[in-house]
Amino acid sequence: MKVYAIPLRNRFRGITVREGVLLPGPAGWGEFCPFADYSDAESVPWLHAALEASETGWPAPVRDRVEVNTTVPVVTPEKAYELVRASGCRTAKVKVADPRSTVADDCERVAAVRDALGPSGAVRVDANMAWDVDTAVRAITDLDKAAGGLEYAEQPCPTIEDLAAVRRRVPVRIAADESIRRAEDPLKVAVAGAADIAVLKVAPLGGVRRALEVAEACGLPCVVSSAVETSVGLAAGLALAGALPELEFACGLGTISLLEGDVCAAPLSPVDGYLPVLREAPEPTDAYLAAPEVEAAWRDRLARVHALC
Ligand SMILES: [Mg+2]
Repeated sequence: MKVYAIPLRNRFRGITVREGVLLPGPAGWGEFCPFADYSDAESVPWLHAALEASETGWPAPVRDRVEVNTTVPVVTPEKAYELVRASGCRTAKVKVADPRSTVADDCERVAAVRDALGPSGAVRVDANMAWDVDTAVRAITDLDKAAGGLEYAEQPCPTIEDLAAVRRRVPVRIAADESIRRAEDPLKVAVAGAADIAVLKVAPLGGVRRALEVAEACGLPCVVSSAVETSVGLAAGLALAGALPELEFACGLGTISLLEGDVCAAPLSPVDGYLPVLREAPEPTDAYLAAPEVEAAWRDRLARVHALC
C-alpha cells in the first residue's frame, strides 16, 4: 500500500492537504481517503469502496466517456470567466453562499460564468447547506436571473424538509448532495419531494455497486461527484458514471485540478470537457508519498476501520 499527502491548490473543507491510502489488489488499485473528521464507523463505506476497486473490480460500463463540469470557487468575476474559458467544459458549477461573498457577489460571478459558457452552456450552483428556506428562495431566484437560467441548485439547505420547501417555491431544479450520504437517505429525499436530482459519491456510499443500487432505489436522475480523490479514486467515480443506465447531466469528476499534483503519471484531467471510463484505476507512482508519521497514522486508521468491516 501507499500513503499519499498532496497539497490542495485552495483550502477545501478546512483542509490544505489531501491524504489517503492506495491499496493494491488482484483487480487493481483502490483509494481509501475519508476526511479527517470522519469517525472509524463513518469510514467503513469508504473502505468497502476501496476494496471493491482492488479486490472485485467494477461492473461493466454502458458508455466509454463521461462529460464533466468545471468548478468555480469564490473568485472575482474576471477570474471566474478565465477559469471557465480555460476548462473546455460546457457545464460550470459555481460555489455560492460562502461566508467570504454576498448574494450580489455570487450573482456577478454567475453572470460572468454565463458569459464564458455562452447560451448553450449550463450553470449550476452549490450552496453546501448554507441557507435557510427564505434566504434560499431569494438567492436562487436572483442567481437564476443572473445566470440567464440555472441548470440546478445543489443542497441549498441542510434538511430534507427545507429542501422540499425551497423546491416548492422556486422554478429551479434542486439537487441533493449532503442529504444523500447513506443508502437509506435517497429514498427519503425522493419520497419527501425534496430534490429533482441526486448527487452520488462512490466512497461514502460504499462502492460502485452500492451506489448503483441507491440510484435505482431513489429513482432520480443522478450526477456523480468526487470526494476530491487522486486519479485512483476518480476512476471509481467514472466507473459509476459509466455504469449508470442514464446520465443526463455532466458529472463532478473533473476535480484533479483542485490538487497540486497527482499520484498517477497521467492524471484524469478533462479533455474538451470529458473523462474516459476505465476498467481499472491507473497505476500510482511514488509521487507525493507521505512522511513516515503520516503513513503510520493512516496504517492505524486503516486497521481500525478494517476491524469494523
Ligand atoms: Mg455539493
